[in-house]
Amino acid sequence: MRAAFGGPRLLLRRLREVMAEQISAQERLDKIVVLIAANMVAEVCSVYVLRVDGTLELYATQGLNREAVHLTVMRAGEGLVGLVAQTADPLNLSDAQDHPQYSYKPETGEEIFHSFLGVPILRGGNTLGVLVVQNRAHRKYEEDEIEALQTTSMVLAEMIASGELSALAPPGQEPAARRPLRLGGEPLADGVGLGYVVLHEPRILVKQLIADDPNREMARLDQAVEAIRAAIDDMLETEDVARGGEHKDILEAYRMFAHDRGFMRRMKEAIGTGITAEAAVERVQSDNRARMMRQTDPYLRERLHDLDDLAMRILRQLTGSDHPAASADLPDNAIVVARHMGPASLLDYDRTRLRGLVLEEGGATSHVAIVARALGIPTVGQVENATSLADPGDAIIIDGATGEVQLRPTSDVENAYAEKVRFRARRQAQYQAIRNKPAVTRDGVEIRLLLNAGLFVDLPFLDETGASGIGLFRTELQFMVANALPRVAEQLDLYRKVLDAAGDRPVTFRTLDIGGDKVLPYMEVIQEENPALGWRAIRLGLDRPGLLRSQVRAMLRAGAGREVRIMFPMIAAVEEFDEAKAIVERELTHLRRHDHRMPDRVQIGAMVEVPALLFQLDELLPRVDFLSVGSNDLIQFMFAVDRGNNRVANRFDVLSPPILRALRSLAAKGREHGKPVTLCGELASRPLEAMVLAGLGYRSLSLSPAAMGPVKSMLLELDLGRLEAVLTKLIDEPRQGVSIRDKLMEFVEAEGVTL
Ligand code: PEP
Ligand code: MG
Repeated sequence: MRAAFGGPRLLLRRLREVMAEQISAQERLDKIVVLIAANMVAEVCSVYVLRVDGTLELYATQGLNREAVHLTVMRAGEGLVGLVAQTADPLNLSDAQDHPQYSYKPETGEEIFHSFLGVPILRGGNTLGVLVVQNRAHRKYEEDEIEALQTTSMVLAEMIASGELSALAPPGQEPAARRPLRLGGEPLADGVGLGYVVLHEPRILVKQLIADDPNREMARLDQAVEAIRAAIDDMLETEDVARGGEHKDILEAYRMFAHDRGFMRRMKEAIGTGITAEAAVERVQSDNRARMMRQTDPYLRERLHDLDDLAMRILRQLTGSDHPAASADLPDNAIVVARHMGPASLLDYDRTRLRGLVLEEGGATSHVAIVARALGIPTVGQVENATSLADPGDAIIIDGATGEVQLRPTSDVENAYAEKVRFRARRQAQYQAIRNKPAVTRDGVEIRLLLNAGLFVDLPFLDETGASGIGLFRTELQFMVANALPRVAEQLDLYRKVLDAAGDRPVTFRTLDIGGDKVLPYMEVIQEENPALGWRAIRLGLDRPGLLRSQVRAMLRAGAGREVRIMFPMIAAVEEFDEAKAIVERELTHLRRHDHRMPDRVQIGAMVEVPALLFQLDELLPRVDFLSVGSNDLIQFMFAVDRGNNRVANRFDVLSPPILRALRSLAAKGREHGKPVTLCGELASRPLEAMVLAGLGYRSLSLSPAAMGPVKSMLLELDLGRLEAVLTKLIDEPRQGVSIRDKLMEFVEAEGVTL
């Protein structure tokens, strides 16, 4: 049996009138359920709203006992309503009571109703509640009825999201859409940021839901899709895309979707229910997002993302809204929330107003994370659904050290963080005061503190931190944030600017360290079982020397009349160093022959990142001018723990005899051969670890800009002689358990050193 079905267009018109009425939220909801029930010839229509505690509360009903309103509450996943919320899919049953998940709520009196149709109330892919219709008779609802109910639920979604219903609930039980939320993500760039949400891609507000003329809407949709198809074809024809690479793949996927019949059909069906073209695109996009969030297969998820992007483009086309200029009207204290972002987009924002960045995607090695770290913008990545949960202008706090994001924080939380920020500011002021002091320990030993850098944007840190030079310039960063392979002229320009900014302070350029987790977007990705142990860094450089040669040439030319320091990453054997050094010598000969102005002095060094090198130091040291320890890689290889894998990365403590003995003998070997040894891994950027390195004999450390203050202030308070005595005992004594961190902390406390 099929109920007489009144048609959604009339219903939408009536709903629009109800939405505009000056009545209370409860009255409005009550009217809405009556209208829907009448229109769908259903005996029951109920609205369940998702609450902050994850439960679903009955907010309005036509047909069930009215006393149950605000009384009936379903736990997350409980009953059929819970199932709809959990799956974000419609549920259509001719006999609800036969369903294994049916849960009987006596206060509602629903046992006499057999058929059940529930649809999620979705907004931006998030479930905000569930809309249900029921009938006494056993019947299955038709496709067009499901469609109509889903369209109707968009009205409720807007109502819930507007916050109008919050007044109906006691604290702690408000609708989930506007609740304070604590979200977890991956810490990508340190620092605490307090501010207000700015969506990188602002949601396009569909103002008109109901269409006057469906034929016109169909035509508008066709036109918009046609325009998008043409734009994609144009882009595919532009020269740099036509050459291939990732860009091309993405655009081709877009093109495929833009011609996808299923996608078009779903949008047209939605228009058929009486809504505008933009509302139809939003409907399909919302369903799509709900699917995306449940999708665990990364490939399919990526495809759904592409569809989402496409829907966004169509919406923009339909509403005539351009892509926002990132920096336009940026409020003070902006925290940008994005699904994903390229590094160039981040640089478009006014840095003085940017307090933080939240990404739904993005790992520690993503390019935008690298740039964010370089700029000192607190950043948290992998925050699921951030762009749908956050609304523009919402208060938000992010902690880039812990990965915590507080959306619409309560005043307690806000106060706690504000205190944290004040504390950090006080510390910063203290660091400023020691900026120009050399880092000399209390017993008179100077430790040279250098900077780790890699981009233009890092250069101001040289003066801001009072660094003695650049100990590690990661040249691959320029390559990683570019859209195409940087030409020699661009490399030369960067290296010159770096040397100019450093003046007479030394700069150590590291040749390209790509491969492994450092992927260049425009280069073919080579699938390797173990990329960290694969064809990367100097291995790639020696096997395909063209790139290495041109890079070395750019470094030598940039250093005309100055000292040039070049080091090679991932050297595993002395022969590799010899081969790499020969490339530098060849380039020097070339420059001389062509009458270029020569560098005053060229220093060539190797990074110690591969454990095998530790046992070739007597052969290696006479050949090099200096060594630099890449502790990030060295430690990952020594403990056999992937530095990017959170499950194992912190399994062993670095402050343990095996690592410290190795680092100590390395420093001693350097001294024995009269060759300087710097340490430039992250280890040097952590005050306690940096203290230990000084104790092991390191007199030169290269750190991230943010670490400069904390490490220097620690060194100024340190009595190195006393540390050495304690450390020797801790490292050499046979002991149980590997970590000596606790013992070192005892030393720090006894000595009154602040970390
Ligand atoms: C290291 O491995 O410690 C290092 C400094 O190099 P990167 O972190 O760039 O691999
Ligand atoms: Mg390394």
